[in-house]
Amino acid sequence: MEPSVDLFPSPHEYFRNHPGRPRKRLGQHFLAQPKTAEKIVEAAAVKPHDVVVEVGPGLGALTAHLVGRCARLHLVELDRDLVAFLAQRLASLGERVRLHAQDVLLFDWDHCVEEAGRPLVVVGNLPYNISSPLIFRLLENRRRIDRGVFMVQREVGERLTAGPGTKDYGVLSVLLSLYASVESLFTVGPKQFYPPPKVDSLVVRFSFLDREPDVDLEDVRRVVNAVFQKRRKTLANGLKGAVPMGGEALRRAILRAGLDPQDRPERIPPASFVDLVRALKSESP
Ligand code: SAM
Repeated sequence: MEPSVDLFPSPHEYFRNHPGRPRKRLGQHFLAQPKTAEKIVEAAAVKPHDVVVEVGPGLGALTAHLVGRCARLHLVELDRDLVAFLAQRLASLGERVRLHAQDVLLFDWDHCVEEAGRPLVVVGNLPYNISSPLIFRLLENRRRIDRGVFMVQREVGERLTAGPGTKDYGVLSVLLSLYASVESLFTVGPKQFYPPPKVDSLVVRFSFLDREPDVDLEDVRRVVNAVFQKRRKTLANGLKGAVPMGGEALRRAILRAGLDPQDRPERIPPASFVDLVRALKSESP
């Protein structure tokens, strides 16, 4: 299927012919390189029966390569001016493309998947200011999502795949390692965007695991958040006050999980956090 590139202008062309400027507050760095847009969409391996959600379509750089490739395309865009522009460009495509003028952090994944009747494919060149909260939202909705391909700031992308003992290892790395498989695909330099961001971007692909830990995501998240908020402190100190138990019970739980109360969070592998959550549960009053 030919991409619908004619439907969408380059960012330079758009801002020459429309008032206003890219909005920093909305993380607007528009991809100006169609070949890269095509490569990102190719990485999602979209099939004709797929229902795709594109996060922040902007001026349609990725949309151009998604339109016509899937059964239905949902576009979720917060910028009212861009929504009006997209609505006008997409009018001829009818029901196959649906535009949602809203914050993607409030998107109703449940409703979307129910209507689709199958898990969704998510694609986006993510606004840098919401990448982390959006990834948490996707984790919460992981049973509704089959796979995703995202462009994120390189620094965020590196956190997604970081292992224990590295400076990037943190909450996102632990949770994604337990619930998803994430691959880094390629980097994209600042010159490919208008306006150019200050940093490189990274394209990542992920899918959620069929077999996941038998503990609640929220419990793991609470524990991992607590210890990484104080990543310089020991495990025992980091957890103090974050779990409903006294120092002695906490120490017992840490030992029962096979960990040392003096350990630093950045050295603890993801699976040990699951053991820790189980042990904390069994020591809870
Ligand atoms: N996909 C386009 C591209 O590749 O050129 C635009 C990418 S730009 C990095 C991010 C887009 O997300 C912008 O269009 C911006 O208006 C939109 N956006 C920012 N915050 C959003 C939010 N909370 N919900 C939905 N869209 C958002």
